[in-house]
Amino acid sequence: MRGAVIHAPGDVRFETVDDPKIIYPTDAVIRMAVTCVCGSDLWPYRGAEPVGDPHPMGHEYVGFVEEVGSAVTAVRPGQFVVGSFATSDNTCANCANGFQSNCLHREFMSTCQAEYVRIPNAQGTLVATKDVPDESLWPGLLAVSDVMGTGWWAADAAEVKPGSTAVVVGDGAVGLCAVIAAKELGAERIIAMSRHASRQELARAFGATDIVAERGEEGVERIKELTGGIGADSVLECVGTGESMLQALHSARPGGNVGFVGVPHDVAVDGQELFFSHVGLRGGPAPVRHYLPDLIERVLTRRIDPGQVFDLTLSLDQVAEGYKAMDERRAIKTLLQP
Ligand SMILES: [Zn+2]
Repeated sequence: MRGAVIHAPGDVRFETVDDPKIIYPTDAVIRMAVTCVCGSDLWPYRGAEPVGDPHPMGHEYVGFVEEVGSAVTAVRPGQFVVGSFATSDNTCANCANGFQSNCLHREFMSTCQAEYVRIPNAQGTLVATKDVPDESLWPGLLAVSDVMGTGWWAADAAEVKPGSTAVVVGDGAVGLCAVIAAKELGAERIIAMSRHASRQELARAFGATDIVAERGEEGVERIKELTGGIGADSVLECVGTGESMLQALHSARPGGNVGFVGVPHDVAVDGQELFFSHVGLRGGPAPVRHYLPDLIERVLTRRIDPGQVFDLTLSLDQVAEGYKAMDERRAIKTLLQP
């Protein structure tokens, strides 16, 4: 089969790779319905993370079950399935606690920008829909496998409650999905921090009530002006840089919470400052599997439409252009069709 392979920063190629096979009885192989490029794929693409030897890319997927191992009974060939970028058995103690992305048998997906993919822990990871959903719903379900699940986790970790005020730091796909999550969880005021007109517009369509274009301490000042001088109840950090983390921590009120879901790069938090701020901090890779049944239902009933974050659709063999468009910020998120 063919799939995306990164050779060096800026160098992603679509080439022939090994066909995935069932290795363990707990595996499944799925045929990709649609996949995509993630903002976090840009870290190695931009050289912010070492690439090392050439390797496949991609961790977001929805598809059709092709084959299952002997221990997999929850899904069967032909079914349309949604999963998570972190696989999980869904039975261990961490899974039972709702932290499937810290499953004791976790394996991160990393080969999804391809025609087929092997899913470890398929029994606990994959959720099948009742029927094959209308194709118009595939982008939304694909978003659920990572960015929508991650945005939901940001809101959950930041303890967004009905009637509360939420600030979203970051206007990438996760940040925009975090706006959806904050709205669904009942935030009354949702302040999106964004400098880009098209992303501001989508944030408003998803439920943002205010936009703050300023960044850094200037942005924090604007948030304070909008929140009676104290900061927001919940801040959803969806970037992962040192600057965005400080912006998030400083935008939360004493007693407020920051949920951080952008993979941290050069982030340092000062212990004394955190201590005296009274701000709660929780983050990590989203336990997407925990949210899957609920989020799939919200997409299938068209209550939410996170598929709108895909503003560029390419065929899978154009994956290199998909990376380039996102790197140059010409696209929020690239959908890839096999
Ligand atoms: Zn587990």
